[in-house]
Amino acid sequence: MHVIVQKFGGTSVAKPEGREQVVKKVREALNQGLGVVVVVSAMGRAGDPYATDTLIGLARGVLKHVKPRELDLLMSCGENIATVVTVQTLKANGIDAQAFTGGQAGIITNHNFNNARIVEIKPDNLRRCLEEGKVAVVAGFQGITNEGEVTTLGRGGSDTTGAALGVALKADVIEIYTDVDGVMTADPRLVPRAKPLAEMTYNEVCEMAHLGAKVVHPRAVEIAMEGRVPLRIRSTFSDNLGTLICDVNNIGQVEIRGDKVVTGLAYISDMALIVIQSDEDLNINGQVLEVFQLMAKSGFSVDMIQVSPYQISFILTEDLADRAKDVLAELSPQISAEKGFAKVAIVGSGMRGVPGVMARMVRGLQQAGISIYHSTDSHTNIACLVKREEMCNALQALHEEFELA
Ligand code: ADP
Ligand code: MG
Repeated sequence: MHVIVQKFGGTSVAKPEGREQVVKKVREALNQGLGVVVVVSAMGRAGDPYATDTLIGLARGVLKHVKPRELDLLMSCGENIATVVTVQTLKANGIDAQAFTGGQAGIITNHNFNNARIVEIKPDNLRRCLEEGKVAVVAGFQGITNEGEVTTLGRGGSDTTGAALGVALKADVIEIYTDVDGVMTADPRLVPRAKPLAEMTYNEVCEMAHLGAKVVHPRAVEIAMEGRVPLRIRSTFSDNLGTLICDVNNIGQVEIRGDKVVTGLAYISDMALIVIQSDEDLNINGQVLEVFQLMAKSGFSVDMIQVSPYQISFILTEDLADRAKDVLAELSPQISAEKGFAKVAIVGSGMRGVPGVMARMVRGLQQAGISIYHSTDSHTNIACLVKREEMCNALQALHEEFELA
């Protein structure tokens, strides 16, 4: 039996109108003769009664600290509720369906509560359900340990569930349904002229997701890539095909990008810039090593790292800035931690080895009157640090400069 996995995000299942669209998408897949596995997120966002953040507030309202194990038991409820409501909706429309928790669907994880990793999938229950001609509706974002403890997979975890099940069931395609028409050239909330991209490679999407584009979780893309299952990001609320993500080779084409140097933009806001300066060569007394060992010991993930004899700089999330400064103060008195930055990035596998991309990026930002405080690059992205209040302008300027609209 050919299988399709359809994952529906919180905005898709929040309201009855969205759930009617879910029925439509499931029916279309059934009409193609496919076995359908639906993965659902919790219904709605913070403030909605059954959204995950609302459930967390319920426990924290009693006592601030919730043990990670108990938190997982609570956080998994939102998706459990969504599975049953979705099953009821499908049945009301004449489609037989059965609900599964992550554990019942055979998603086995490690013990890392709140951010567990899938270690194995035992898809027998799902296969049986499909063979009985029913749609399997699985709670996203959760799994179970070998000892039977309920775990959750971290933010964006439902995407991961969808991808992992797609690979385990050797699905024809994993569809991630959301409230936008696929991966767009930039976040449409900040860049109104952003447009959907028809095709991308796993690597490009992964890079965009790691650089902050929240449309799909990078882990999900990695899982689909490793399992060589195509991924399609599309809207619950339209018939557009969205973005097809696969390996260039998979579809037998050498180049799916055309001559575009930049495919899309991404950003991460609320970053702090840490700068350590010295009058003496920081390498000589091993201070460079000490800086990064201290950050590692504190569990701080650093980014945009630049090392030179008399200066070390990097960024980390704003909430860690004060603690990082305290930790590093013992090493050098010349340390600054400035908050209020955002990282904006251009992404595209087409920029590899092409001269003049940075010049265009600088031109675009300069014409908009935006200063660059720091920059890093790889073969397929260039990122610049700008002031947070200029982030939106920066994205719009770069969108114009690279003619993404
Ligand atoms: P869901 O609840 O369906 O998982 P998410 O909020 O996780 O939805 O993801 C969809 C949102 O991602 C969109 O509403 C959009 O604002 C945001 N987004 C950020 N960057 C991009 C991008 N490059 N393309 C499309 N959407 C993006
Ligand atoms: Mg999401």
